[in-house]
Amino acid sequence: MNTTTADLSRYSLGCGDRFGREGEAQLQAYADARELGIEVAPVWNKSHREHKTVGTGYRSVREEADAAVSAMGWQHPYHVDADHIRIDTVDGYIPYSDFFTLDVADKIGAPVEADDEEAFVRDLRRYCGSLAIPGVSEPIAVNEETLRTVGRRYLAAIAEAGRIYRRIAELKAGTGFITEVSIDETEQPQTPEELFFILAAIAREGIPVQTIAPKFFGRFNKGVDYVGDLERFTREFSDDLCVIRFAVKEFGLPADLKISVHSGSDKFSLYPIIRSAVQQHDSGLHLKTAGTTWLEEIIGLAEAGGEGLAIAREVYRAGVNRFDELCAPYSAVIDIQRETLPSPDEVDGWSGAEFARTVRHNQSESRYNKQVRQLLHVGYKVAAEMGTRYTDALQHYREIVARHVHENLLERHLKPVFGGDARR
Ligand SMILES: [Zn+2]
Repeated sequence: MNTTTADLSRYSLGCGDRFGREGEAQLQAYADARELGIEVAPVWNKSHREHKTVGTGYRSVREEADAAVSAMGWQHPYHVDADHIRIDTVDGYIPYSDFFTLDVADKIGAPVEADDEEAFVRDLRRYCGSLAIPGVSEPIAVNEETLRTVGRRYLAAIAEAGRIYRRIAELKAGTGFITEVSIDETEQPQTPEELFFILAAIAREGIPVQTIAPKFFGRFNKGVDYVGDLERFTREFSDDLCVIRFAVKEFGLPADLKISVHSGSDKFSLYPIIRSAVQQHDSGLHLKTAGTTWLEEIIGLAEAGGEGLAIAREVYRAGVNRFDELCAPYSAVIDIQRETLPSPDEVDGWSGAEFARTVRHNQSESRYNKQVRQLLHVGYKVAAEMGTRYTDALQHYREIVARHVHENLLERHLKPVFGGDARR
């Protein structure tokens, strides 16, 4: 489509960590997966929101990724993703990122010029009638109103994505990069038919999109399993893959365009569905995770005991005391039943092993508590405020922390999402 794209592996898994200490532990998981024939490119991602909360600089993720890659002699592709950036936040990431996730969700539904709407309808009128997309279970009924509805809802957002894309292309001055368009952090999910016309709008805007992150039906809460109708997810996810393939042909989008699943950590009930759909349709996949590396740090620290356990308990206590403040930035992506949370005094009575078993995402463990887990997930700000006390503890208890980070990524993510029959 043009020369600004960079190669993105067929399978990629977004990782990253709040405090930038787990680069090698994470990369080791990808290396071990490759030994098993599971070839997945690591994409270090960190959202602008996380940078602000932790107080890290733009260059930190690049430094972490490069350091891990050189320490381990990693010879395969990897990327650094400026995650959920907007026109006002993109510039600082330009020198350090080769993957940009353009977040235009806040422009969904913004006013669209009448002329733009007319042009959109005129260009796509050829799809009116019964639209049969290969692989999609049923033909889609499309009329002019369908096009107008999608246009009014998404054209301003896609125009904004175009502005951000052109800004990056200008500043990157000929260096290739990967463009993701994310419309996931919004209330209303997109249906496969909407996705088709959104991709049309992206192509009309001249964006060489390589990954697209829609909002799927159901709840994708951070760090815990999916909540929703599995049958509906199965059907829509499969349809989305077919829509993407068809849109690539119809609209001349990059041939490697693939779906991106955000808040992808720990969606254990979806992994077999995603894996089999990707395999069946011979599609690529990007799955974005990051947040649960921090939880593995807390689990490791708790298990280590001593100062590690003291820190874990303090983070929990602050989480309860500062509940509203810590949860506010994540209100759309967490669901905590506050009244069921154990009191900090009770938690102080738990052993390190009990604390760890409560937080670790093992649904067959009787102590597992997803309320506690979600609260700790948003509690990383408290650890950030501890400064070197926290990072020194990570260093002091390096071995146990790294073991949990590695195991979580390899056993609970890389293998179930990309392993088995879906490997290539
Ligand atoms: Zn997202």
